[in-house]
Amino acid sequence: MNTHLLDTLAAEKDAFFPKPPTVTGRIQSLCHFRLTVDENGTAWITFDMQGSAANVWNESTLREFDLCLESLHRDSSVKALVIRSGKDKIFIAGADLKAVRSSPIRRVETLISLGQDVFNRLAALPQPKIALIHGACLGGGLELTLACDARIASDAESTRLGLPETQIGLIPAWGGSTRLPRLLGLPAALEMIITGKLLKPSAAKRNGLVDKVVPREQLEKAALEMLASGLPEREPPISHSFWKLPGIRNALAHRVRGQVMEKTRGLYQAPLRAIEVATEAAVLPLDKALELERHAILDLALTPQTEHLIDLFFRKEEASKKPFPRGIALHVHDVAVIGAGVMGAGIAHWVASRGNQVLMQDVSMDALARGMHRVHDLLNEGLKRRAITRRDHHDTLDRLKPEHTRVPLSHYPIVIEAATEDMGLKKKIFADLAARSGPDTILATNTSALSITELAETLPHPERVIGLHFFNPVHRMPLVEVIITHHTSDDVIATAVAFVQKLGKVPVVVKDSPGFVVNRILMPYLMEAVRLHASSIPAETIDEAMLEFGMPMGPLRLLDEIGLDVAVHVGHTLCAAFPDRLQSSPLLERMVAEGKLGKKSGQGFYTHGTGGRKKCPVIHDPAVVEHVQHRLALLLANEAARCAKEGLTRDPSDIDLAMILGTGYPPFRGGPLSWMHDLGEDNAAVELRMLQHSTPEPNAFEPDAIPKT
Ligand code: NAD
Repeated sequence: MNTHLLDTLAAEKDAFFPKPPTVTGRIQSLCHFRLTVDENGTAWITFDMQGSAANVWNESTLREFDLCLESLHRDSSVKALVIRSGKDKIFIAGADLKAVRSSPIRRVETLISLGQDVFNRLAALPQPKIALIHGACLGGGLELTLACDARIASDAESTRLGLPETQIGLIPAWGGSTRLPRLLGLPAALEMIITGKLLKPSAAKRNGLVDKVVPREQLEKAALEMLASGLPEREPPISHSFWKLPGIRNALAHRVRGQVMEKTRGLYQAPLRAIEVATEAAVLPLDKALELERHAILDLALTPQTEHLIDLFFRKEEASKKPFPRGIALHVHDVAVIGAGVMGAGIAHWVASRGNQVLMQDVSMDALARGMHRVHDLLNEGLKRRAITRRDHHDTLDRLKPEHTRVPLSHYPIVIEAATEDMGLKKKIFADLAARSGPDTILATNTSALSITELAETLPHPERVIGLHFFNPVHRMPLVEVIITHHTSDDVIATAVAFVQKLGKVPVVVKDSPGFVVNRILMPYLMEAVRLHASSIPAETIDEAMLEFGMPMGPLRLLDEIGLDVAVHVGHTLCAAFPDRLQSSPLLERMVAEGKLGKKSGQGFYTHGTGGRKKCPVIHDPAVVEHVQHRLALLLANEAARCAKEGLTRDPSDIDLAMILGTGYPPFRGGPLSWMHDLGEDNAAVELRMLQHSTPEPNAFEPDAIPKT
């Protein structure tokens, strides 16, 4: 006999239980969960959030889940509880971050306490409780399962388990920082919490987070079998008395803290706070441990750092999912890539690995062989990192066809040109592509800095030309600048945006202009770093200053990686476009003339040997470090302000997003425009004017685009 308990319960409950504010009526308030009890007395709670593709925790869903628990608590005929999701690819995606971002601290406090109370009630139910995890099980989703007695995960590709809170400036505070160390032991729990790493089901089984992994269709059967045979006995990972020794705990916390400091230079508060909380919480009584979690998350929730990280999360989500507002996006499945060099092979590999048929074309068999070699290397690297399976490796190669003759391209909806950076050559290639392709084929170029408008205007159908600026290395860099000219049609933009999203990358639509957005903002910064070096500041000091600012790599080391010849080439384009504030660097030109091209030639700002880049021990003068940081960060933000003023992106916040995803600009600062906003636009303008006095280039630091506040 199946029993529907909720309706009756809701009537009783409404009498004393405050209704969640967003809920309008009794049926509505119970619309996210289904609770049934089968003939054996096993209760099944299915979470299927109405009007949302994902299940998330907010006040409304937590209160409703609590109603379900209340009903089980009162029903002595219920022998066991199984919790599952009604969504196709998501178990529970965590807390509703909108509730954290836009609420006053009192509401955040209420939400945290409510989550802790509800999960405590779940943990305290006397019946055995099993979570059936299929799809993303993140943050508060995983914390729910930690309050259960056992976890069974599906082996589906969409199933991932993790606590990513520290990545958005928070810590797990619905019992995650307390219960995970008790389940896995402190070292494994700390690793999961501070890295925010998402585990595949197999890895979760290996480290003891889940008890069993089965195909999705067998989850329910596995739960019934587990209930029939008894819950798995668990050995505590290391006996609790061991972790009770403060010396042992402190030594571990010290080591992990050292690792975090080395990686982040202490710029991110959340992982450091998470170490403190989890180390203590592992041995405290539950209520005290949860209090620690609560205090920590409330301290962190309202810091500008966390606000920036949460904003970034939303902006990235929106850019990755939202369709272009105009035009009709066509489905793209077959793609031709022209050029099998570093970028062509990288793009062909990525596009094929995402399930598309790819034709990769170059001028000779030799060039193609080199390109295929690159693809093999990328796939082997993926295998080694366990990012792909042998099957993925095989399927990707199956979908990739190398070609060196002028085959017709009429059935390809999109062709991406990634040949040598030369306008004359690209014009010839595009004329040929226009002749070989179909009437609606989109012709895209991956040029770093050439004018897409100039290229498009040589063709009979300029409305079909667009830029798709992938970054190097393609498989690692999430950003693709989608460059549009005033000719590009809305349908072409909509299709390109949808295609990039389908590839799992983040598109940012940018108007065609020299250097687009990322290179335009980055180059003046890099050239100023060279100028500072020419004025006798050691390369190591300049790089150190920007590492301390939070950049993932110092500017001079970055130049060595890019190649000084490539930088000179892009620099020429920008200097020609903005002669009033950019001049080519004599030092860079000289180094290139001497064959010092950076890493690829073994010598640039650093000496690169077989043992890697040689490090010179340098003592950094803090005053010089501050001077460098100040100059470079302001110059970079000033150029970002100019791009915003020129309206190069649909929204200025896209500039911040592009700089974070395209250059690794420190995410916790929210991007160069947000950084300047935090500094105060007026203050920034004053500082820039002062710097302008000491700069030979006219207008380099002129704050001409900074709005007066
Ligand atoms: P690359 O020199 O590694 O490869 C260029 C390839 O183009 C070579 O294999 C060459 O044989 C091929 N080619 C030349 N003429 C051709 C033709 N007519 N038809 C087909 N193939 C032809 O260069 P790359 O670094 O891969 O750069 C390619 C493009 O991507 C350039 O426009 C570059 O500005 C841009 N880009 C490069 C990077 C980077 O970091 N390397 C980053 C972003 C964009």
